[in-house]
Amino acid sequence: MGGTRKEAIYAGTPVSRGIVFAPVHVMARGFSAPEVHPIANVTRETERFRDALSRTKRQLEGLQEHMESLSGNEEGRIFEAHMLVLEDPVVLKGVPKAIEDRRQNAEYCFYAVMQNQLESMRRIPDPFFRDRTTDIEDVCQRVLRNFDTEHEEPAPDEPDHQHILVAYDLSPSTTAAMDRHQVLGFATERGSITSHTAILARSLGIPAVVGLRNAVFNLHALDPCILDGYEGKLISNPTPETVRKYRELEEQHQLRRAELDKLRDLEAATTDGHSITLSANIEFEHELDLVDRSGAEGVGLFRTEFFLLENEECPDEEKQAALYSRVAKRVSPSEVIFRTLDAGGDKVPGEPLSEPEPNPFLGWRGIRFSLDRQDLFKEQLRAILRAGTSGRVGLMFPLISGVGEVRQAKSLLSECMEELTERGVEFNREISVGAMIEVPSAAMVAADIAAEVDFLSIGTNDLVQYTVAVDRVNPRVAKLYRSAHPGIIRLIKTIIEGANQHRIWTGVCGEMAGDLTLLPLLIGLGVDELSVGAPLVPLVKQAVRLLDFEECSALAKQCLEASETRQIVQLCSRAAATTYPELLQEASGGASAPSFAAHPA
Ligand code: PEP
Ligand code: MG
Repeated sequence: MGGTRKEAIYAGTPVSRGIVFAPVHVMARGFSAPEVHPIANVTRETERFRDALSRTKRQLEGLQEHMESLSGNEEGRIFEAHMLVLEDPVVLKGVPKAIEDRRQNAEYCFYAVMQNQLESMRRIPDPFFRDRTTDIEDVCQRVLRNFDTEHEEPAPDEPDHQHILVAYDLSPSTTAAMDRHQVLGFATERGSITSHTAILARSLGIPAVVGLRNAVFNLHALDPCILDGYEGKLISNPTPETVRKYRELEEQHQLRRAELDKLRDLEAATTDGHSITLSANIEFEHELDLVDRSGAEGVGLFRTEFFLLENEECPDEEKQAALYSRVAKRVSPSEVIFRTLDAGGDKVPGEPLSEPEPNPFLGWRGIRFSLDRQDLFKEQLRAILRAGTSGRVGLMFPLISGVGEVRQAKSLLSECMEELTERGVEFNREISVGAMIEVPSAAMVAADIAAEVDFLSIGTNDLVQYTVAVDRVNPRVAKLYRSAHPGIIRLIKTIIEGANQHRIWTGVCGEMAGDLTLLPLLIGLGVDELSVGAPLVPLVKQAVRLLDFEECSALAKQCLEASETRQIVQLCSRAAATTYPELLQEASGGASAPSFAAHPA
């Protein structure tokens, strides 16, 4: 490592732990950055540029004809607009000039000119210009691929070597589909710690950093890099000294992880014998290997939407029942809790939400979607009921805002039981049913909801978003996302008291459950279960085993009296730092549950 270019450090927010050494693959908004190198022959490079443009034009004309033959003139016009981009003076004059001035390869000069142009357009508030950027990105990608003259068809965009993926943004579905063997880590300019992209990275154990400014524009394909998912850094062209430092750090982390792995079969209980159920959050069946190794007690949250939405059509009852039964069997004798479809927000299915919503997080998501699409919902409920014969199964409903929704969902569940009985299909009538508490109104009426269910699971990612009114995926307001806000702590207390009144258990399955700083507080408030990404289980278990329940309860009492986030953060940080300083360091940068890395006051 360590090329001719200078070392540069990009700082962002760590969202998934780990250190990775690899060349980068840069995916700009819509197209990838080419390699850059100096050139001697300006005329030859300019010709390469013109050839690439001609090839692109020929392809676009072919596509236009094809579209017109299929569906008439209108669709074909899209490509006319694309061709206009190629005739723009910014392209025709700007790129040859850039080649002349910069003396760099044509594809890189084209990329640089177009990126500048796109950046200016993105700053124009008029949605017309913003929408047009997508067209331009599309054409740019095509032109860049056409510099490769060996293939008549554009070459695929995915590199076939291991790399760190640097992108402007990544959708949860792209993250889910990542080839784990090729993408060793990723860094994005957008994103936040509780976005599903970050949650997936943690679950899959892929080191990741978000919120890196200008990385996409400044980095070049194949630049050697170090991704530091502990501190939230991406270091390009590291010096031999930096590489040495990071190799040492990586070794230390590996040693600590090996130590933590030894806790696999031990209980998550405090020094004074207060037990916590420590389970894992998963999204995919293949994560069960990680769950096994982590020493988690079952699965506290299975986000079923990734399975349901990754296919064009929602898998039918049979397919769902087969998956849920396999999972139940694997997790047995521990319990797996399936969260029913939580569509919407940043997990958008193709078909049912094809109309974009102005406020997706306040829109048609979670239980609202399911209660409106009872056909899909009941199919899923029947599948979960059937899986109840293969192991210990629970189910819970997402985004409950009041007791009415719980009653409605339960009544549909009863209908499903009758239908299965009529069909003579075996199922388990006794599976436990829970409600996720992630909306402030539900927290306020938690006792009423608790009267209807077997458990409450607090989804803090959403509870914080809705309580402090901070979009969980918007980096601009990320510093205002305060899980230690007194309002949140008091709501959690209300929820636990509500559950206690009806003698049912309360869990936390949001990212806050893995935040080592706030862990003493959650335990002191009286949560019975914590569910975290599998890679975090050993860390949280060790922390629980070092805490004293009496002390945690006293801490919770103090925090409930605090009026400012700052006071709560101070109290909790002090408790955590005196009890397990080395664990905090292992989770450094807050990457255990990095949402709270900064713990802003
Ligand atoms: C939550 O909101 O805390 C939660 C666990 O659900 P999700 O992150 O999938 O919205
Ligand atoms: Mg949620």
